[in-house]
Amino acid sequence: APKNYDVVVVGSGGAGLAAAIQAHDEGASVLIVEKMPTIGGNTIKASAGMNAAETRFQRVKGIQDSKELFYAESLKGGGNKNNPELLHRFVENAPEAIEWLARRGIMLNDITTTGGMSIDRTHRPRDGSAVGGYLISGLVRNVTKRGIDVMLDTAVDDILFSDGEVSGVRLLTDENEAVTVQAKSVVVATGGFSANSAMVVKYRPDLEGFVTTNHKGATGGGIALLERIGAGTVDMGEIQIHPTVEQKTSYLISESIRGGGAILVSQQGNRFYNEMSTRDKVSAAIIALPEHFAYIVFDEHVRAKNKAADEYIAKGLVTSASSPRALAAALGMDEQAFLATLERYNGFVEKQHDDDFGRTTALRAPINEGPFHAIQIAPGVHHTMGGVTVNTQTEVLNAEHQVIPGAYAAGEVVGGIHGGNRIGGNAVADIIIFGTLAGHQAAVRARG
Ligand code: ADP
Repeated sequence: APKNYDVVVVGSGGAGLAAAIQAHDEGASVLIVEKMPTIGGNTIKASAGMNAAETRFQRVKGIQDSKELFYAESLKGGGNKNNPELLHRFVENAPEAIEWLARRGIMLNDITTTGGMSIDRTHRPRDGSAVGGYLISGLVRNVTKRGIDVMLDTAVDDILFSDGEVSGVRLLTDENEAVTVQAKSVVVATGGFSANSAMVVKYRPDLEGFVTTNHKGATGGGIALLERIGAGTVDMGEIQIHPTVEQKTSYLISESIRGGGAILVSQQGNRFYNEMSTRDKVSAAIIALPEHFAYIVFDEHVRAKNKAADEYIAKGLVTSASSPRALAAALGMDEQAFLATLERYNGFVEKQHDDDFGRTTALRAPINEGPFHAIQIAPGVHHTMGGVTVNTQTEVLNAEHQVIPGAYAAGEVVGGIHGGNRIGGNAVADIIIFGTLAGHQAAVRARG
């Protein structure tokens, strides 16, 4: 039977692993509990990168940025619904979170951009590969090196509460055995509920029948766990659909492809929206098309700079052709319209001004280097901005905004930080910033 721990971390995504490492490094004994047979949660699927302003890596590249601008753009992207205290803490701690990772051998020193951000501040691995796999393998390396205990295939199905404070958890092991573990602090890092269609539709009936990009463990169970000990919730109806999801495989096509210079084209062969607008707006524009889908179109120049593109090609998601005309033919698209669209867009790149849709970022290079590539995409449920209420110390709050002693939460299970629309690159920042903070708080409490 498991022994008792200072800190139990529920969930092994980015937030949980960061919390566990930090708590361990402050002297706490830590157990990580993960209900799935594998580590990494939905974080392992993260693609774009980690946003932060005023970082060392931006300075090295001569990128001028400010925390104020990062704050303002995240708030604007979130429709001004973001919790200001949480967002301030987020922006303030972001550069240190980049360094926290660097000190642990996780280097995010290539920088790109995502929709809604005016500056390159999305930090990703040096080779331009997707951030999720790299981040999780780096965190797992750190967990293993420290000898932190991990139980896979084991769900926390109750948080124990006595004398007005958290006292441990009840686990259901892989052998379906119920086990009680005493702990002074419990960090809930169980992620969102995008893969729980019934729960999504309960809050957003219009999302009935949408595919999801999430791993199947994203069922929102952690919210229910915390609600049972009195936690409040916020923004539960704020659910993000991601605009570029391949529908047969539910595979997310990273925003970094558009950030690298790709455009969106309708079945008629026309651009129809500013590709670098926020996810909510781009998704709405695609849904408004007669076919409710579009193509993400890019050339060899964009492919060569994005490892992710090779993955899409290997998975058979990409239609490629030697010329724009041949690509249009392969897609059953009006050739003249498509050729005119490319020519017009390339003109905008040349003069760095998009007369049609006002795209101001990632007008990187003309789309003119063969082979040419297209992926058919439509929106899918991607991120749940709502969740449990916490204060800026990651302490879980009840419906009266009072702290529930011993309960901490970080990552997508928490509501409020992203308001009505999470910016690409802000979730990875969220999990590292608030994961490490939750680990710190949990360790401090355990030291008593
Ligand atoms: P975040 O990005 O916030 O870290 P992730 O989705 O990456 O969130 O990770 C959350 C992890 O928590 C997932 O691996 C999920 O399987 C796990 N999880 C969810 N509910 C439970 C539970 N009740 N017990 C144990 N693990 C859980």
